[in-house]
Amino acid sequence: MKLLIKGGRVVDPANDIDAVMDVLVEDGLISAVEVNILDREGTIIDASGKIVCPGFVDIHVHLREPGYEYKENIATGTRAAAAGGFTTVCCMPNTDPVIDNAAVATFVRERAAKSGVVNVLPIGSISKAQAGQELTEMAELVAAGCVAVSDDGYPVKDASLMRHALEYAKMFDLPVLSHCEESSLSQDGQMHEGYFSMLYGLKGIPAAAEEIMVSRDIILSEMIDAHVHICHVSTRGSLEMIREAKARGVKVTCEVTPHHLTLTDELVGDYDTDTKVNPPLRSREHLQALRQRLLDGTIDCIATDHAPHHVESKDCEYELAAFGISGLETAVAVVMDKLVSQGLLDMMQMVDLFALGPADVLGIYKGTLDVGAAADITIIDPELTRVVEPSQFYSKGKNTPFKGQTLRGWPWMTIVNGIVVASDGKMVVE
Ligand SMILES: [Zn+2]
Repeated sequence: MKLLIKGGRVVDPANDIDAVMDVLVEDGLISAVEVNILDREGTIIDASGKIVCPGFVDIHVHLREPGYEYKENIATGTRAAAAGGFTTVCCMPNTDPVIDNAAVATFVRERAAKSGVVNVLPIGSISKAQAGQELTEMAELVAAGCVAVSDDGYPVKDASLMRHALEYAKMFDLPVLSHCEESSLSQDGQMHEGYFSMLYGLKGIPAAAEEIMVSRDIILSEMIDAHVHICHVSTRGSLEMIREAKARGVKVTCEVTPHHLTLTDELVGDYDTDTKVNPPLRSREHLQALRQRLLDGTIDCIATDHAPHHVESKDCEYELAAFGISGLETAVAVVMDKLVSQGLLDMMQMVDLFALGPADVLGIYKGTLDVGAAADITIIDPELTRVVEPSQFYSKGKNTPFKGQTLRGWPWMTIVNGIVVASDGKMVVE
């Protein structure tokens, strides 16, 4: 089977390409990227005016299956990913049962092969049942296809356990993904601690709750010379520590979310529970620091932290609402509209942050249009303008603070292993 993608602007940071070219796909692999390919056999996709990129990779997604299928399952979550322009997602282990052994990891992969429409790579937990007491058998998790370990959602409190996790993971070149939160400081917090939390009368979560743990994990990573990856960085102080640590050769990487790059704590003022997320939306000062560090290599990738919730977990008082944003279907459009269109990020940088960067964090061969690589391709229409309408989401999670916003620049086509999965935001495979 052949696909010829003609006349699009190909942006591929791995090969330093930003030019109008054609891409030929054959038997699920990229077989040529050249100017004006002539091939009469394949299905021709006219990509003129579009941006042809290596498939986007989201390394921080909650697919909720097994155990919480009322919030999301692998079928709906991967359709949301495809509609949102992602060809690979890595799913967090806070399921029920937890992905803390080979059997659950294998279940997720088999389920994804059967009901999923994009590549799914499971993340195993650091501790058994994410209870923070005893390490998982990481050798077994790696053998079952896990690409990283994380106790996301349940920050590792015990520094000694984190130390041993880093030592164990290092043996397999496995990144340890750390949700940095000192819970004694964040306890009962609803939003960022600052001027607006005082104004709105909600208990705050100080920047220090994140920064204390970032500093601990950098110190441990440096001591052991092991790779720690900081999830959803949200504060200026965290980024300064990460930048300095990188400069002295510490194996630390990090991600930021589209919502922390574009929304601030002021938005909580209408008590819309869709603005409730952990870490919380921060002040403008922190948002500016995130945007600045997006450009200088401090931030390795953008990840959604896609956290779909059932309507009942959000249709309640702010204090009772669950934390999280359903992010897969808006991430690309939010970044296109609010950063790329504003001149704050160029296309090469954006593709790096969505494709090559996350692949490099995990050390997987994705995020490139190399000849011979799997044909995972994301095509963006930079002019397409659409209103965010959660009722149209493939995700079961309709919880988004971007609802009702008009955004310009959306994923136009998603190709996974040479097969067109989504087109113009709609599934084209069953
Ligand atoms: Zn987290």
